[in-house]
Amino acid sequence: MTDTVVLTGGRVLDTEAGRVREGESVIVRDGRIAEVGSGIAAPTDAQVVDVGGRTIMPGLIDCHVHVVAESLDLWSNMIAPSSLAGLRSARVMEEMLQRGFTTIRDLGGADHGLVRGIDEGLIDGPRIVICGKGLTTTGGHADLRPRTDDRPTMMHYRLGSMGYVADGVDEVRAACRTLIKEGARFIKVMANGGVSSPNDPIDSIQYSRDEIAAMVEEAENAGMYVAAHLYTDKAIRRCVELGVFSLEHCNLIGEETARLAAEKGCIAVPTLVAYEGLWLDGKELGLGKSEFDKIDVVRQGGLKSLQIMRDAGLKMAFGSDLLGQLRKYHCMEFELLAKVLTPAEIIRSATVVGAELCRLEGEAGIVKAGALADLIVVDGNPLDDISLLQDDGAHMALIMRDGKVFKNTLN
Ligand SMILES: [Zn+2]
Repeated sequence: MTDTVVLTGGRVLDTEAGRVREGESVIVRDGRIAEVGSGIAAPTDAQVVDVGGRTIMPGLIDCHVHVVAESLDLWSNMIAPSSLAGLRSARVMEEMLQRGFTTIRDLGGADHGLVRGIDEGLIDGPRIVICGKGLTTTGGHADLRPRTDDRPTMMHYRLGSMGYVADGVDEVRAACRTLIKEGARFIKVMANGGVSSPNDPIDSIQYSRDEIAAMVEEAENAGMYVAAHLYTDKAIRRCVELGVFSLEHCNLIGEETARLAAEKGCIAVPTLVAYEGLWLDGKELGLGKSEFDKIDVVRQGGLKSLQIMRDAGLKMAFGSDLLGQLRKYHCMEFELLAKVLTPAEIIRSATVVGAELCRLEGEAGIVKAGALADLIVVDGNPLDDISLLQDDGAHMALIMRDGKVFKNTLN
């Protein structure tokens, strides 16, 4: 085995320009892209891989996942021993890499152990950017205790837990500092009601302005940002005003708020497939009428929100947010986005914009010299046919992260 690999005989997808460049080769060395272009000479010691006219593009980035949510039963995830939760998470991550996702951003659950597991080669999964746990108020979106459960706290110290209950400015600051000390790269806050939680209607506003401002300050002091779980226009607007950078879901955003968010340079992460999946499998999963009603509100709003955000010039990053067995629908997000966005816009959201949210600008989501060698080789041209990114990686002949090959059906 040599350290240098040359991918040749195809075209390169330029995610920034939204076009392909025919006849270009990519030289990979020591986990990075060493050179890209046409007519470049392969080093004599290189392993040459002919991609047979396929498209070489950056690995995909999913900016909203929960790898510890192996089951839709969030309680069972939380009370599982952390060792078991870790092994289950590894499997979830390995499935994601085989779908072509080479970087994922986890919005609550994953810890630094999983980051290390990837670095040490223990998990054949994507690079993972973590927030630790999602901050929630008592009774908020990540407080899973039913009304009759008076246990004093949630088990945020368990790997399988997605949330961390913190109330009041002082507790919030302490929680942010703990999460950052433990390896968080951004802070996640539940600032609005949710679909999967027992006690909070989706239009409930969560956390006070002072508490969110404290999170923004703590994050910014550490060179980070806050990502907020949001559905309603009112909740989104409040967070944008308070300096939140990453706006998750945004199903019910209005035009004016979208424009304000764009002006402030925010990035939104729509996650349409999460609701589509619940809608499709809800009956089987035993969801009741009140849950179905909540799901329908955000599901109907989702497609409209894409239009509003695009027209406002608000950047969007690709996200899926699928829990438990619904993760089989992961790649359906491409299909849903395609109802409104062009393939070039969708690819940008799952590469360049995603890299920005992961603070990997110029490192991931792009095929250029010096970037991380996160590459996929796709049959045909996804700019003409976005469905090539669907079907769990079936149209991907090669998947590489950090220069390491995790799938290769080319030779
Ligand atoms: Zn989520």
